[in-house]
Amino acid sequence: MVNFHVLTLFPEMVMQGLHTSILGRAVGKQYISIEAVNIRDYTTDKHGKVDDYTYGGGAGMLMQAQPVYDAYLSVARKVEGKPRVIYVTPQGKTFHQEMANELAKEEELIFLCGHYEGVDERVLEEIVTDYVSIGDYVLTGGELPAMVMIDAIARLVPGVLHNDESAMTESFHNDLLEYPQYSRPEVWRDKRVPEILLSGNHAKVDEWRLAQSIERTKRLRPDLYEKWAGRQT
Ligand code: SAM
Repeated sequence: MVNFHVLTLFPEMVMQGLHTSILGRAVGKQYISIEAVNIRDYTTDKHGKVDDYTYGGGAGMLMQAQPVYDAYLSVARKVEGKPRVIYVTPQGKTFHQEMANELAKEEELIFLCGHYEGVDERVLEEIVTDYVSIGDYVLTGGELPAMVMIDAIARLVPGVLHNDESAMTESFHNDLLEYPQYSRPEVWRDKRVPEILLSGNHAKVDEWRLAQSIERTKRLRPDLYEKWAGRQT
């Protein structure tokens, strides 16, 4: 079981986005839990303000330390030990499948979503354990990155996917992309499903799939292919 806690200014975005389909079912069956904590609920400002101008000048507003810290404490106080706190930021390490595998072993994960120009550095120094980006581009807020990461992590939690095998054959497992797949009908717009897949010979099917994975990875992701090839010798 992994309990995800998302510190955000837009809780409804996170809750609506993550409570549908496979993850919604996983929450229902208690394989995971997802809680969005509204940072605004923790501000001590009487007008409900959570952001202010940056010292030294510059465009845009910055999320202030106090409401973020108090929102964090509301979670940290109710969980055991010191939970990992992931600040989603374009300045972090780029998220990848191995990181998802590692994070899926945690019991509690706190995600901090920035907005505007970001978050006051002092509260980041105080609470953040991991700085993670979803890619080299800048988004308006951390909600989508947190949702992307939670989706990737949650589907690795035992029980969340119906067929445990599927995570084992998917892209990035073993540094290979997944092979092409086909469903009914056997012929669509004159395109036939590869004969081998209809043969019933599982060993041959596995051999074909591996060859396809290798070829596809070499063509589409030469960087990944080099990694895989380096491990074959
Ligand atoms: N001023 C910041 C900078 O230059 O690094 C960018 C702030 S961005 C407009 C607002 C928030 O969106 C960030 O605090 C972060 O939480 C989130 N964000 C934007 N792009 C992201 C990315 N590629 N990966 C993860 N989070 C991102």
